[in-house]
Amino acid sequence: MLRGSSLSKAPLLFTDMLNPKPGSSHLSILIYHRVLHRFDPLRPGVVLSNQFDRQMALLRRYFNPISLREGVERLKDGTVAPRSICVTFDDGYADNMTVAAPVLARHGIPATVFVATGFLDGGLMWNDRVIETIRQTKSDAVDGSLFAGETISLDTIEARKQAIGRILAHVKHKPLNERGCLMHELERLLGVRPADTPMLDTCQLRALSRSGFDIGAHTVNHPILSCEDDNSVKKEIVDSKACLEDLLQRPVNLFAYPNGRRGLDYDNRHRKIVQDVGFDAAVSTDNGFNSPDTDKLQLHRFTPWDTSRVKFGLRLMFNEWAVKRE
Ligand SMILES: [Zn+2]
Repeated sequence: MLRGSSLSKAPLLFTDMLNPKPGSSHLSILIYHRVLHRFDPLRPGVVLSNQFDRQMALLRRYFNPISLREGVERLKDGTVAPRSICVTFDDGYADNMTVAAPVLARHGIPATVFVATGFLDGGLMWNDRVIETIRQTKSDAVDGSLFAGETISLDTIEARKQAIGRILAHVKHKPLNERGCLMHELERLLGVRPADTPMLDTCQLRALSRSGFDIGAHTVNHPILSCEDDNSVKKEIVDSKACLEDLLQRPVNLFAYPNGRRGLDYDNRHRKIVQDVGFDAAVSTDNGFNSPDTDKLQLHRFTPWDTSRVKFGLRLMFNEWAVKRE
C-alpha cells in the first residue's frame, strides 16, 4: 500500500501498523540510522539508546519482529503473521554494533544493516563531514556564496544547527563529484578537516554478520541515484555488492536505495539495474506497509526518527489496544 502524497513525509503511527487492513497479512519495516548514548545538539533527531531500548521492548511485546530476509520470504509465500515487523539500519554506522546490537540481542530482535561500502574503515559520509566541520570550526560565520545564499552565522549552537540544515539541503542532491568539491571548499573556508569516523570497520562488520545481522548493500559512495548517469549507478551498485560478498564470504541479496524516495531519488531504471545485478529485494524510504502484492524491489519502510511523534503514536497504540481488549 502506498500512502497518499500528502502523508508521504509523515512517519506512520504505530496505530497504523496495527490496523492496516483487517484480515490481511502486512509487513512493516522500520528505518534507523544511528543510535547514540548521549544527546547531540547538532543531531537532535537521532534516537538515543534508552529510547531505542524502550522501542525494542515495545516491538518485542506487541509485535512479531522477524528478519527482513524472513519477511521477504513470507511476503512471497503469503505467510506473513499478524503485526510482523523488521528493523533495518542504513549507511553502516559503528554505533549499530556498539550501541544498538546489545539492545537488540537483549530483546531477541533481528536486524539488517545496509552498508555504503566506501565509508568502511575510516570514511566519513558527506552529511557527517558537514556536521563535524561545523561543530569543530572556530569561525563564527561561513561565506554563504558557496551555498547560493548570504553569510551563514555560526556563533551559537542554534545557529550552527540551522547552518547544517541549510548546507545539507543545498548539497544533498548534487552529483557526487560536485558534492565532494563543496565539502572540500567548506572545510578549507572553515579551517577544519574532520578525522574521526563514526562508521563501521570491516572487523566490526564481519562480527555483526557472524552475530546474525543481515548485511545489505547501499552503494559505495551513497549518491542520489537519479543525479548520476546509468553507468555510474550500475558501478556503485555492483561494486558495493561485490565488496560486501568479498568481505563476508556470503551472498548479499538485499539492497537499500540511497535516500530512497521512489520517483525522486531513484526510478524504474535503477530498479531494473538492482534486479539485473541479482538482488532478491530492495527497500525504499516511502512510507507504507508491505503486502504480498508489494514490489519486492521497492519495499516500503517506516521512519521512527521523530521521537515526539512516536510517543504520540505509542500512546494512541495503547489506547487502541485497550479498546480492542474491552
Ligand atoms: Zn543511506
